[in-house]
Amino acid sequence: MKVEDKVALCAIKQHAESHIQLDTSLCEKCPTKICIRACPAHLYTLEQNEVKVDHSGCLECGTCLVVCILGAVSWNYPQGGFGIRYRHG
Ligand code: SF4
Ligand code: SF4
Repeated sequence: MKVEDKVALCAIKQHAESHIQLDTSLCEKCPTKICIRACPAHLYTLEQNEVKVDHSGCLECGTCLVVCILGAVSWNYPQGGFGIRYRHG
């Protein structure tokens, strides 16, 4: 089974409030904007030259937190009962 198919088996209950915050003043100076390429769920985008993150669909892998060398990402697990529930197919 492909990874995409396995991820599709998972259930995500999204909280209205985002568990990911960005310091966009740091993002403006970021030379790589590597989060856009690194997030496996493709949740980081560049819109009118501004980096945005859509927390819905987050796989809670922590990759964005690790790859952001400028420390612009504040990340917490979603509130209890929310977020991704992994299932094994
Ligand atoms: S890697 Fe970090 S600083 Fe650079 S654009 Fe992404 S979140 Fe912003
Ligand atoms: S934790 Fe993983 S899936 Fe969620 S936004 Fe960061 S890189 Fe993307």
